[in-house]
Amino acid sequence: MTYKSWFYTHAKKHKKIVDKLLACGKNEDEIIEYFCFENMVKNEIDFCPLYKKNKKCHDMKKLNCYLCACPHFRFNDDGLSEYNGHKILSKCEINNGDTIAHDGVIHHNCSPCSVPHHKSFIKKVFNEDWEKIMKECNLGR
Ligand code: SF4
Repeated sequence: MTYKSWFYTHAKKHKKIVDKLLACGKNEDEIIEYFCFENMVKNEIDFCPLYKKNKKCHDMKKLNCYLCACPHFRFNDDGLSEYNGHKILSKCEINNGDTIAHDGVIHHNCSPCSVPHHKSFIKKVFNEDWEKIMKECNLGR
């Protein structure tokens, strides 16, 4: 799957859940709370493939999934730039995390970073429209 197809598929899934919560009159705090890992596993099993294994992407006690992905993530399936003959497909705008290289491409690896999964960060950048929060991510179009 390309970054682009994941991004827009995920945007639709996210919107469907948020629209449902807004229709029930939920406010910002209640919407964020709904996206906590334990609740999502129970009520939104199709949102993330890891939910079926009850597995977290990050080893955090309070993991919130509202911002999967992350507004600092940048990608272009055609390549952002090149390094040592490898095409760089993604990067972090604030240089957290690290990288994974294989088969001539370099991906950004967010697994050492928990920034977007903390409620305090989510509240800082909150918008009911996930695509608006992520508007800088897709540099490919
Ligand atoms: S490394 Fe952290 S801050 Fe950077 S894109 Fe990944 S999750 Fe976001």
